[in-house]
Amino acid sequence: MDAVGMIRTLPEGRDSLVDTAPPESPRARAALHTAAAERLAQQHQWQQAYMHLQAAVELLRGGETHGVGTHDELDRLRREHAEAREQSRRDSLTATYNRRYLDERLAALLGDLDDAALRTIGICVALVDIDHFKLVNDTHGHLFGDRVLQRMVAELDASLPDDGFCARYGGEEFALVLPGRALSAAVEICETARERIAHHPWSELHPELRVTVSIGVAHAVGVPTEVEPLIGEADMLLYTAKEAGRNAVAYRAGHVRLAGPASGRRAIRQPVRTTG
Ligand code: GH3
Ligand code: MG
Ligand code: MG
Repeated sequence: MDAVGMIRTLPEGRDSLVDTAPPESPRARAALHTAAAERLAQQHQWQQAYMHLQAAVELLRGGETHGVGTHDELDRLRREHAEAREQSRRDSLTATYNRRYLDERLAALLGDLDDAALRTIGICVALVDIDHFKLVNDTHGHLFGDRVLQRMVAELDASLPDDGFCARYGGEEFALVLPGRALSAAVEICETARERIAHHPWSELHPELRVTVSIGVAHAVGVPTEVEPLIGEADMLLYTAKEAGRNAVAYRAGHVRLAGPASGRRAIRQPVRTTG
């Protein structure tokens, strides 16, 4: 029976194959580790998969056989793991990061006690929501709406600095994360994104199509910083931008304001702050 066959016959939950493998040559044991890594990677258990790969490499380095084929196999597995890991972080429709990545990365960024920029300048999170998107779907169909989402994400990405990222928060709502950015810089980035989307050649999709977004930008400084109040503040500001007429970026500097040409609008509601 080959290595993969042996693994398939193992009882459920037995991932540690070294204990169960008969005393064989390093190459045979490495093959067992490689196959175990493949199986664990299929189950998205990356950490354990890498441990098995490492064990296989050590065996091959120290063992009497240095099979080129096995090294190629390890390289292939490593590449596949990296690709699968990247895919598990991406939204399938727009290829931007997904909610899982957003939650993990944001928590890591906000919890980084050693981050000097977080302590002094802070971090901004913006929530972006398409205006009257239901109408786009109702008028042109869901697949058409999907194409609008893809183009909108391309414009958001084009507006971001290298260290920022975009993630799908849910439905037609996206988060922009801007580490090491003061509020004024983040508002400028968001205003650029809003303008890019408003001026995108949407007529390429349909002569009468117009698409705008509303954005709420929240800022936090110091460590540790909590995820929920920051997102909550951005959400509240987004709602304020909607209420104040849409196609606008809302932020709080003393009181709630709108950026750019929307700043002259009246009737901006002043929501209660939730962050410290
Ligand atoms: P508002 O300006 O207040 O945000 O209005 P809206 O119409 O954009 O908001 P609403 O929450 O009423 O509708 C959101 C729509 O987004 C409804 C939903 O079908 C659509 N949507 C969410 N996810 C997708 C998607 O993946 N593809 C498409 N085509 N539509 C989606
Ligand atoms: Mg919307
Ligand atoms: Mg929405």
